[in-house]
Amino acid sequence: MNAPEPFAQHAWLADTHEVINVSTELADYDMYTQDKALVEAVRREGAGWAHEDLTAFGRLTGSAEYLDLGAQANRFGPELDTHDRFGNRVDLVRFHPAYHRFMKTAIEHGLHSSPWADPKPGAHVARAAHVYLQTQAEAGHGCPIAMTFAAVPSLRSTPALAALWEPKITARHYDPRNVPDSQKAGLTIGMAMTEKQGGSDVRANTTRAYPLGAGGEGQAYELVGHKYFVSAPMCDAFLVLAQAPGGLTCFLVPRWRPDGSKNPLQVLRLKRKMGNVSNASSETELRGALGWMVGEEGRGARTIIEMVAMTRFECMVGSSAGQRQAVSQALHHCSVRSAFGRVLNQQPLMRNVLADMALEQEGSLALTLRIGRALDHRDDPHEDLLVRLCTAVGKYWICKRTPHLVYEAMECVGGSGVMEDSPFPRLFRESPVNAIWEGSGNIQCLDVLRAMQKTPGVVDAYFAEVGKARGASAALDRWVDGIQGLLQDPADAEYRARDLVDRMALGIQAALLVQHAPAAVADAFCASRLADGGHRNYGTLPRGVDVGALIERATPRVETMG
Ligand SMILES: Cc1cc2nc3c(=O)[nH]c(=O)nc-3n(C[C@H](O)[C@H](O)[C@H](O)COP(=O)(O)OP(=O)(O)OC[C@H]3O[C@@H](n4cnc5c(N)ncnc54)[C@H](O)[C@@H]3O)c2cc1C
Repeated sequence: MNAPEPFAQHAWLADTHEVINVSTELADYDMYTQDKALVEAVRREGAGWAHEDLTAFGRLTGSAEYLDLGAQANRFGPELDTHDRFGNRVDLVRFHPAYHRFMKTAIEHGLHSSPWADPKPGAHVARAAHVYLQTQAEAGHGCPIAMTFAAVPSLRSTPALAALWEPKITARHYDPRNVPDSQKAGLTIGMAMTEKQGGSDVRANTTRAYPLGAGGEGQAYELVGHKYFVSAPMCDAFLVLAQAPGGLTCFLVPRWRPDGSKNPLQVLRLKRKMGNVSNASSETELRGALGWMVGEEGRGARTIIEMVAMTRFECMVGSSAGQRQAVSQALHHCSVRSAFGRVLNQQPLMRNVLADMALEQEGSLALTLRIGRALDHRDDPHEDLLVRLCTAVGKYWICKRTPHLVYEAMECVGGSGVMEDSPFPRLFRESPVNAIWEGSGNIQCLDVLRAMQKTPGVVDAYFAEVGKARGASAALDRWVDGIQGLLQDPADAEYRARDLVDRMALGIQAALLVQHAPAAVADAFCASRLADGGHRNYGTLPRGVDVGALIERATPRVETMG
């Protein structure tokens, strides 16, 4: 007699894993055309000619394969080999192939150089929009891309050096080999300012520069010192701040010397970072490293500020992108998942949260691409003054608003959002970085005050810009009058600087939305951000807001991309 089969007859009882009411991947979607606010802003700010390119690029960045590569580049972070197996110093950083794929794509699409190589109206806006899409798939590689892009204006302060280096810096050719620049057709650039004893205050730098001959602009020096943060140490050259006999000065330090020997720019270790993992950041020593003086002796901060201005803009782009990816994920999830008998995006309180996050993100994007347009027209004094002031305002505000927004988006997904196989842990860990580097929050606010003191025209430019929306919203008019009132009282200006810059950021965002966004967006922004007490937690939009329109506008639709 056969033994009984106790489970066979109850197999249907073991069927506990019917998968219902769960979300799907936000993947294989058209990241550009599904972002209505982006498409409109690109057109408005002068880069409508890039629509076709951006459409194709958005299909790439929204593809399942590309998004997965973004996860891989961070799961398998970079490793450092200081020496080869024979004992030769190599300072080689090894990256996962996914990282190289992002670098190659970025460089081949000109994300590191297009406005310099092909300047035209809309060039900065088009490039920023590409970066915004690319960053949503992977943020870390954006660091060397941004630094390479940003180095050009600083380098141009010494035309002889720019003539030698710029063609290869702007070339659309990615060559990650650890070989002298003379053997490459395309180069990347990093920057080394921060030291242990001072990051914000670069005047505290102790790295020294000794002239090898007569010295002076464009001439060779040897640099000795340590740099406590050097990201992307596999770049082909670095803009480095060091104390020359005449004071703090900027130098271009190559990874290899022109004679083919290794420049003693030695990577001690890679940082173990909570976020921005795909990007290698290092501690580095200069042990008599060769470098050429860029700009005037003793004017290093002035020279490198040209680079920093561009990287600050990049922080606005990057954080706006992080916000967009987080909000897209939340909107997508809540369009699929139900609780208590309704799809989440139909629950009144969730609608308030989703619409509020979408508003925040659209404000970030509007300001970012407005500054992109200003960068495209710096020969116009108004636009130039706007860049000077509102890059600091926007960098401060947008980057600082990002961690909380990303966290709220994560909460919309619930517990699964906390899991490492969701995109949220990476988005969240990335979210504070832009606020801290390239001048932390307080430094941006102090820079706003400095700009106002040294270049009073920036104040007029700000009010002229927000004045374009005068009369369209009583709340905005009152808000702007309030800022003018604050500026009449210079007492304790530093102590009160964050309050001022918060208000300026909201004022210009509201002015842009009032002029250009659909009424549902502009009205909701003014009602929630310019009301007494300001904005509190997400989900506190007042009654009367057309949340349906906001959710509909911002929700990306997943579709098959033929
Ligand atoms: C992932 C990562 C990568 C980096 N890569 C690079 C790189 O490639 N090259 C490079 O040069 N640096 C790099 N940095 C360093 C970064 O730029 C600095 O950390 C940053 O500038 C702040 O400097 P710090 O860390 O020395 O802080 P500090 O300068 O000590 O500042 C600490 C805090 O004090 C505040 N503060 C400073 N002065 C004032 C003041 N007067 N009033 C009020 N508050 C003030 C600051 O806002 C900040 O919040 C990187 C940092 C990170 C996190």
